[in-house]
Amino acid sequence: MSEALLLAKTEESLLELGLKKAASILPASLEWAAGKQATYVEFLSRLLEAETEERFNRYLHTRLSLAHFPYHKTLADFDFTFQPSIDERQIRELAQLSFVEERNNVILLGPPGVGKTHLAVALGMEALQNRMSVYFVTMQRLVADLRKAHQEGRLEKRLKVYIQPKLLICDEVGYLPLDALDAANFFRLVSERYEQGAMIITSNTSFTNWGAMFGDQVLASALLDRLLHHATTVNIRGNSYRMKAFVNCNISTATLTARTPERVSQ
Ligand code: ADP
Ligand code: MG
Repeated sequence: MSEALLLAKTEESLLELGLKKAASILPASLEWAAGKQATYVEFLSRLLEAETEERFNRYLHTRLSLAHFPYHKTLADFDFTFQPSIDERQIRELAQLSFVEERNNVILLGPPGVGKTHLAVALGMEALQNRMSVYFVTMQRLVADLRKAHQEGRLEKRLKVYIQPKLLICDEVGYLPLDALDAANFFRLVSERYEQGAMIITSNTSFTNWGAMFGDQVLASALLDRLLHHATTVNIRGNSYRMKAFVNCNISTATLTARTPERVSQ
C-alpha cells in the first residue's frame, strides 16, 4: 500500500474512532516527528494530547453554558488591591476547592459592587476546570422557578436541578424580601443540600436581617443553622468597583448607598 493511501486509511480509522482532532493533525504531526526524529511514543503522545485537550475544551464550553454564569470572569481578572478588606490568601485557598469536596458553603457578604458575584463566578469557573458540576442562579430566578414548579405540581422534579450540581451558586440573596412560599422553597433546597453539596451564597444583607428578609425568624435561624454549620463567611467591606471612577474622584460610595442602612455596612 502506498504511503498516501496508508495515511488516508489511518485518518479514516481515527475519524471512525471519534478522534477528530488527531485525524486533522495527523499529516502535520508526521512531518513534525520526521523533522525532529521523534520516537514513536513521542509522536503518539503528541497526537493524543491534542485530542484530549480538544475534548476538554469542548467539555468546558458545554459545561460553561450549562452553568448559566452571568459573565465569565476568573480570579486572574480580580484586582485584590482595589478591595483590601478581602484576604487574597483566603480566596486562593477557597480556589483549591476543598470546600466543594467537603460539601461546605461559602457566604460572600457585602454591599453592591464589591465583587461578590465576580468571586462566586471565579470560584465556579475554577470548579468547572476541575470537572465539577456547577450551576449559577440568582435568588430571584430561583424562587420564581420553584414557585412555578410548585404551582404546576412538579416541585420535586425541578428541585433536582438545584440539588444535583456539586456546587450551586445562589446570587443576590436578600435583594428582595420573600413571601412564605418562596421562603419555604428556599429552605427546602438548603435543607436538601445540607452536607450533600456545596453552595456559594452572595448577599448584601447581614445575617441579623435574614429574619426580616424571610418574613420568619424561626425559619431564618433554622436556615442559617444549616448554611453556616460548615461554612466560610467572607465579609467584604469597601467601595463599589462599579463606582471606581467616582472613587478616584474621592466620592465615597458610602454616600451613594446611605439610603439603605439595613444592608451590610461599608
Ligand atoms: P457585586 O458585589 O454587586 O456582586 P460584582 O461582583 O458584580 O459586584 O462586581 C461588579 C463589576 O465590577 C463586575 O463587572 C466585576 O467583574 C467588577 N469588579 C468588582 N470588583 C472587582 C475587582 N476587585 N477587580 C476587578 N473587577 C472587579
Ligand atoms: Mg452581584
